[in-house]
Amino acid sequence: MTTMLPRTELEQDAFCQESSELFSKPLIEEYEIDVQWQKIPQRYARLDPKLIEERIWQIKEQLGSKLTILAHHYQRDEVFQFADGTGDSYKLSKYAAQQTSEYIVFCGVHFMAETADILTTDNQKVILPNLLAGCSMADMADISDVEDAWTDITNLLDDTLIPITYMNSTAAIKALCGRNNGIVCTSSNADKAFKWAFNRGNKIIFLPDQHLGRNTAYQLGIKDDDIIVWNPFKQLGGNTEQAVRNAKVILWQGHCSVHTRFTVEQINNTRNNYPTVNVIAHPECTSDVVSAADYVGSTEFIINTIANAEEGTIWAVGTEISLVNRLAKTNPDKQVVCLDSIVCPCATMYRIHPAYVLWTLEGILFNNPVNVINVSREDKEAAKVALDRMLSLEVIDD
Ligand code: SF4
Repeated sequence: MTTMLPRTELEQDAFCQESSELFSKPLIEEYEIDVQWQKIPQRYARLDPKLIEERIWQIKEQLGSKLTILAHHYQRDEVFQFADGTGDSYKLSKYAAQQTSEYIVFCGVHFMAETADILTTDNQKVILPNLLAGCSMADMADISDVEDAWTDITNLLDDTLIPITYMNSTAAIKALCGRNNGIVCTSSNADKAFKWAFNRGNKIIFLPDQHLGRNTAYQLGIKDDDIIVWNPFKQLGGNTEQAVRNAKVILWQGHCSVHTRFTVEQINNTRNNYPTVNVIAHPECTSDVVSAADYVGSTEFIINTIANAEEGTIWAVGTEISLVNRLAKTNPDKQVVCLDSIVCPCATMYRIHPAYVLWTLEGILFNNPVNVINVSREDKEAAKVALDRMLSLEVIDD
């Protein structure tokens, strides 16, 4: 056995459907979907969606400045509507760092709530409504596997190896980067992080997304001959000693289950159907999709590019469907479609159902907060070093 997919990856297709619109169902019905759900009191599962919505607005008003709700762009609309701040993972982490409210309810996935916990003060509590809203990509880089790889590689080398981790990784991985002269990056500043790293060492290990890592390496003119992939379930990552010594870039074998659904065939079909279409894709897509697209960039880049595009233009988007649907609604003067005809939301983001938001808000209201994220002091300090290095990279396109 040389691959072990995390459960979050195996569950990714659970919410896929043929119809174009995504509507939340009462939680009791969504429980029938075969993914892991955090258990919460049964009464929340049976609540009428309208009542849940009204109650959330009421509690938000009651808690006032004590509460900030943040929502990632990939959240379902029925949750997104409550957000005081929205953004991609980088923008939300900066937003969280600026908040003074006692409670931050983070409607996103686990690594994002961890990042918010790292960047906020000890007096603030960051809450993730459903603890099983993980991220399959982050789950593909387990800290003990990464530590083993780090030891194997550094034992072999005389070179200076610099670790770079994508924001979409656990706090423990960010901390490993902080302790070993490394840095965190996002999809909008990965190229700057690579240049930063090559000014300090002659070899990079990039975690956990091989596609963002490869696309960034190509962008900087690094060729396939200088890149290897590290499979954590094989001896020396599936490489020879010589290959490890020769490589400039070592890519961790992880990927996003959502963005790797997009294919060149989908792009070709879309171009046949809409000859004037602009194809825009996220850099977590595979390199062949990235080279076939007209534009490539982070979630915020995609949003801004379409918002600023000329009226009447057509856009086919290679990113998460909740965001694509929202882009179609907020840009009625343009035509916005998803590259994938199957509607397949991020199955971990989608686990934040409004009933979970209500449960966590009632916990705050009744002085019994639940699902508080606690990164250890040690990891917090080390991860913050790597995050601060990222924040010190000049102008970040967000
Ligand atoms: S879209 Fe991909 S990277 Fe983002 S949270 Fe979902 S699985 Fe993780």
